[in-house]
Amino acid sequence: MENICPVCHQPILPQYYFCPNCGVKLNSAPLSTTVATQVWIYAFSIILPMLCFIFAKKWPGIKYFKSNDPKARKIGQIAWIILVLSTIITIWFAVVVTQRVIKTSVDNINSDLGQYGL
Ligand SMILES: [Zn+2]
Repeated sequence: MENICPVCHQPILPQYYFCPNCGVKLNSAPLSTTVATQVWIYAFSIILPMLCFIFAKKWPGIKYFKSNDPKARKIGQIAWIILVLSTIITIWFAVVVTQRVIKTSVDNINSDLGQYGL
């Protein structure tokens, strides 16, 4: 990305989507931001189940839950409840963070566009 407008040759900042001098469209940054956000979401979608799978294999809660010993079974039940709660919190947190990333990207694009009245 050149730091000079290709049309009017005025100095510009790399994050500009439009030239502040002549108003020419400099790059398709709103689209690339969307792609970056999507890549992040997709990478997260791939990594998260993998992590869950790795930890689930090491998780002893199932053994306790299936145990004949009532005390061990109770520990297993509590472990299940904590697991479900932490899963819900993790998903909720992921959704909130993802929405915040998207909102920040959209706000940045809007404020940049609004700056030049375009
Ligand atoms: Zn220009």
